Amino acid sequence: MKTETTIQGLTASLNPARASRKIIGFVPTMGNLHEGHLNLVREARKLCDVVVVSIFVNPIQFGPNEDFENYPRTLEQDSRLLADVGCDIIFAPTVEQMYGKQPRLTNISVADITQDLCGASRPGHFDGVAVVVTKLFNIVQPNYAFFGEKDYQQLTVIRQFVRDLNIPLEVIGVPITRAADGLALSSRNGYLTEAQRAAAPAIYRSLKQAEQNLHEGQALSDVLQTIKTSLTEAGFEEDYVEARTPQLQPVTAFEQDTMLFVAAKLGSTRLIDNLLVKYIE
Ligand code: AMP
Repeated sequence: MKTETTIQGLTASLNPARASRKIIGFVPTMGNLHEGHLNLVREARKLCDVVVVSIFVNPIQFGPNEDFENYPRTLEQDSRLLADVGCDIIFAPTVEQMYGKQPRLTNISVADITQDLCGASRPGHFDGVAVVVTKLFNIVQPNYAFFGEKDYQQLTVIRQFVRDLNIPLEVIGVPITRAADGLALSSRNGYLTEAQRAAAPAIYRSLKQAEQNLHEGQALSDVLQTIKTSLTEAGFEEDYVEARTPQLQPVTAFEQDTMLFVAAKLGSTRLIDNLLVKYIE
C-alpha cells in the first residue's frame, strides 16, 4: 500500500493502472476510520482492481461553528486499518494541495434536494461536499465511487450531480454499518461521553419501533411524533425527524416505500441516521 499526499504523486501511482485499463475504485473519507468506512473499502475491493481511499478533512463543508478544527485526524491508525482491508493507495492531501493558493471562484450547487434535512441546519454544507467530491473525482478518475447510506442525503446529492454533469463513473451506495446496539458508526461517536454513548442507540431503536408502528397501520404523523418523544426522553435535542421517498420527495402517508430520517444532538454532538421502511401491500 502506498500513501500519496500530492496530486502529482497520486497521478504517477495511478498511471500504470490506467494504462492497463484496470478498474479503479474510490472511497472518499475524512479519516478516523471505523468499520463503516472499512466496509466501503471491502465493497470496492470486490468490484475493482485498484482501490484508492482519500483521507481529507474538507474545510469548505464545515460551517463556522462546526467541528473542523477538532475533527479527529488519525492517519497512522487509519493507514494500518486500510492495509488490513486491501487498500492499494491512500490519498491524503493537505488543504493547500486541494485548494491551492488562488481563490476558488467556482461552486457546485445542487438545487432542491439540498434545501432541507441536513441542508437546512448546515447551510453551504452540500456545496462544499459537491465541490470536494468533484475535485477528487477529477483527480482520481475512478470507474466506481463508494459512499455510505448513512449519509443518505449526501449520497443522493452526489448521484444527482454525477448524472447532471455526466461525470463518467458509477456511484455505489453501501448500507449502514452499525454497532451491536444499533448505533450507526460515525467518527463523531468518539465525541460522546460514556453516558451519551449509552443513550445514543435510542435513535435506531426509535426508527425500528417506527417501522413496526407503520407496518401495524399507525398514521405516519403519529409515528414521527413518537420518534420525537422517544428522542427527547433519551436526552436528545431534535434537529429533524422526517419521512421521505427514497428520492427525498416529501410524503404525508405511508403508501409506498418510505425513508425515515433523524438528526439529533446529544450535548454538542450531532448524530444522524435513517431507515428504509418497506411498503407491503
Ligand atoms: P466520512 O469520513 O464521515 O466523510 O465518511 C466517509 C464515507 O463513509 C461516506 O460515504 C459515509 O457515508 C461513509 N460512512 C460513514 N459511516 C458509515 C456507516 N456507519 N455505514 C456506512 N457508511 C458509512
